[in-house]
Amino acid sequence: KRIPLVAGNWKMNFDHLEATYFIQQFAWKLRAIHFDHKRCEIALMPSFTSLRSVQVAIESDNLKIRYGAQAVSVTSQGAFTGDVSADMIAHLGCSYVIVGHSERRKYHPEDDANIVDQVRAVLAAGMQPILCVGESYEERRKGIELDFAVGQVRDVTCDLSDEEAAKLIVAYEPVWAIGTGMVATPQSAQDAAKAIRNDLSATFGTEVGETVRILYGGSVSSKNAVELIREPDVDGFLIGGAALKVDELTRICKLT
Ligand code: 13P
Repeated sequence: KRIPLVAGNWKMNFDHLEATYFIQQFAWKLRAIHFDHKRCEIALMPSFTSLRSVQVAIESDNLKIRYGAQAVSVTSQGAFTGDVSADMIAHLGCSYVIVGHSERRKYHPEDDANIVDQVRAVLAAGMQPILCVGESYEERRKGIELDFAVGQVRDVTCDLSDEEAAKLIVAYEPVWAIGTGMVATPQSAQDAAKAIRNDLSATFGTEVGETVRILYGGSVSSKNAVELIREPDVDGFLIGGAALKVDELTRICKLT
């Protein structure tokens, strides 16, 4: 059985002091509700500048919260001003790196080839990529959203070995649902997760297909989390706005 994952993508919010403060408050709230970290995994994705502070806050208090980065360089070292390598991220104790978020695809030149290389870099450094896919409003209007999301996963994973594919986490995040308050219906989140899982099973075998966790992202809140997580192929959430509020994030963790 796949253990659900609640991952908070902080995007470009919180400096390192705010990040530290958030984690202290969050840890306190989780303790207060006797949160069982074996039942559900929690991860936070701060900015690069906060990663070290997040590591210290988590390790010094022996917290069971995992963390990771929001993007990674495709190269391992050298003359790449402004870039951060997978090893640098891994050496800060990170478990995950978000790869191919729609905001990165839009505002940075991240195409499939670049995303493939990021996935490889993350895996080579011993971490797990959280690969983001999902259609825009245009594809949904045309009714091709499932093929689109499945195609995005296939384009990035086609050269992976079964072993590498088993380490993937996929986040289905329809672009029209991100930051809009328009959440996908549980049925359409399930349909997309199922389609992606079936395709992974066809390519890498059922064991891999049944291992990979598929998250839903896009306007997740404590109001819609229960219905979404009830779906058999939705294994958790990638959360933006709601992950910036301690009480709201705690509620979602409790409900997942
Ligand atoms: P919101 O939860 O703010 O819609 O953002 C979703 C997202 O992009 C997470 O990566």
